[in-house]
Amino acid sequence: MSQNIQSVRGMNDILPGEAEFWDVFEETVRSWLKSYGYRPIRLPIVEPTPLFKRAIGEVTDIVEKEMYSFVDSLNGEQLTLRPEGTAGCVRALIQNKLAAQHPQRLYYLGPMFRHERPQKGRYRQFNQVGVESFGFPGPDIDAEQILMGARLWDDLGLEGIRLQLNTLGQAEERASHRAELIAHLEKNADILDEEARRRLYTNPLRILDSKNPLMQEMLAAAPVLFDHLGSASLAHFEGVQQVLRDAGLAYEINRRLVRGLDYYNLTVFEWVTDRLGAQGTVCAGGRYDGLVEQLGGKSTPACGFAMGVERLVALIRDSGGEPALGGIDVYLVHQGEVAARLAPRVAEGLRDRGIDVLFHCGGGSFKSQMKKADVSGANFAVIIGDDEANDGQVTLKPLRASGELQNEQKRVGVDNIADEIMNSFLDGEEA
Ligand code: ATP
Ligand code: MG
Repeated sequence: MSQNIQSVRGMNDILPGEAEFWDVFEETVRSWLKSYGYRPIRLPIVEPTPLFKRAIGEVTDIVEKEMYSFVDSLNGEQLTLRPEGTAGCVRALIQNKLAAQHPQRLYYLGPMFRHERPQKGRYRQFNQVGVESFGFPGPDIDAEQILMGARLWDDLGLEGIRLQLNTLGQAEERASHRAELIAHLEKNADILDEEARRRLYTNPLRILDSKNPLMQEMLAAAPVLFDHLGSASLAHFEGVQQVLRDAGLAYEINRRLVRGLDYYNLTVFEWVTDRLGAQGTVCAGGRYDGLVEQLGGKSTPACGFAMGVERLVALIRDSGGEPALGGIDVYLVHQGEVAARLAPRVAEGLRDRGIDVLFHCGGGSFKSQMKKADVSGANFAVIIGDDEANDGQVTLKPLRASGELQNEQKRVGVDNIADEIMNSFLDGEEA
């Protein structure tokens, strides 16, 4: 006997029952983005490996140990399954000369790939909604993107998602902080874990991002970047906060928030919840003014964020939300040769009127078909036998009406079914 092939570890099937939540989530997200003037962009899942090395940074978790990189055996190209979307979006922006036209507000959604240890809220294939803006230098767009988050949590009916905010200043300011930070870390060399030791001189700021519990106390006492910021950086940060305060949006300044990718400067932020255990960040982003130039484009200010779809859908499910989709209006039962010819036409006619129809396939007795109709969740059964079909009629039976209405089935002319169904829906709403 041959063994069944299983999915790749950390790459999951999203089955019916769960997938409806994803559909509702995506619909909500698209209309939310539209309401802020963000436009869709669709990007490849595979990009040249050097793109990610240059964009994300060589000394980062993602590039050092999480990328699915491979050589295309057919032509020798070095390729990588995208671990995040910003790099590809910037590549597309440059390649298609989008930024030269006018400022851009863009979004995309889809799968990302990182070779991490799978656990709740952390997968090897996961989905992000990415939101990016190009060509806006001021704090107004940073603030807009943060306010957008707050509105989406509201649209999704989610509570308890807190905002954390920090600024990373500019490269010169980080350089001046760096020397002090390295001195502090050197003084505590005995506490540093292997990864921190490796990054001590290549990327010390990233060590602040470590989740190792043994280092937390030492990191809390580390010199803070904020003390090295000049007036322009401080003014930008204040500008963001001003809008948030005016909007009445609560936030917490987290001086150790640095983000796991190298391209950020100035504003960085994360939306965090306590309801998902260790994997509590549902959305993260910030400004990345240097990236377009770093990837060969003309210097262009930029700001964006990415949301983890799995984590947000988990929150929606935990908060008891029911997907609004799924309900079907009519289960169509038919038996007999004349009925079999009429039934597909009846079903299409109902769909023409916007009524959802589950058409019985596979034959069987009336009784067995009615059982399927009962468990289908449909509001009505439309029943067609040869008798009815010969008279140009069908039987309409309410399946979910309460009390007396339950069994009140009636014969209806083929041309009147849709009206009957619509009317009884209206009656139901009035009641
Ligand atoms: P973390 O600190 O949890 O590893 P990160 O800083 O690596 O997150 P980002 O690169 O900022 O994450 O990605 C943005 C969002 O995408 C995260 O906040 C999270 O919601 C989601 N995300 C990141 N990696 C994964 C993953 N492996 N599985 C599921 N969701 C993920
Ligand atoms: Mg990570």
